[in-house]
Amino acid sequence: MSLTGTYDEANIFAKIIRGEIPAVKIYEDAEVLAFMDVFPQSPGHCLVISKTAKARNLFDIAPQDLTTVMLAVHKVAGAVNDSLKPDGVVITQFNGAPAGQTVFHLHVHIIPRYEGVGLKGHGHGQMADMDDLKATASKIAAAL
Ligand code: 5GP
Repeated sequence: MSLTGTYDEANIFAKIIRGEIPAVKIYEDAEVLAFMDVFPQSPGHCLVISKTAKARNLFDIAPQDLTTVMLAVHKVAGAVNDSLKPDGVVITQFNGAPAGQTVFHLHVHIIPRYEGVGLKGHGHGQMADMDDLKATASKIAAAL
């Protein structure tokens, strides 16, 4: 998908926002949602999205909405750091399929990294165990 186009209301994150499919949530308010990535590249991999901005990527989103998302990223990444005590944290955000984007609702990845532990593939691979994801989400949420 190119960088230009129409927001698809049927994308998977729009369905999560509407409650049509489940997600393991960490934090939610009227404007943002943080939840666990079901194909984690590393233990604790989570995502932050706007619940209100119908933006596919960085070029679609209003500056104020992006600010709201990034404030949530700052808050959740801090909680990831405090609760999981990784050795590093990667923050990524992809724009357009050639850049690696697979879900076209703007989102920011928070990926804890651990010394000597490799990163799993992006957007594919093994689906995480739901109980593990829930336990990790609870730990992160407790540190918010
Ligand atoms: P992108 O490739 O667009 O930057 O990232 C999309 C992310 O969404 C990937 O890391 C992928 O693992 C994750 N993902 C795909 N489908 C689902 C889903 O149904 N639920 C959750 N929680 N994450 C998903």
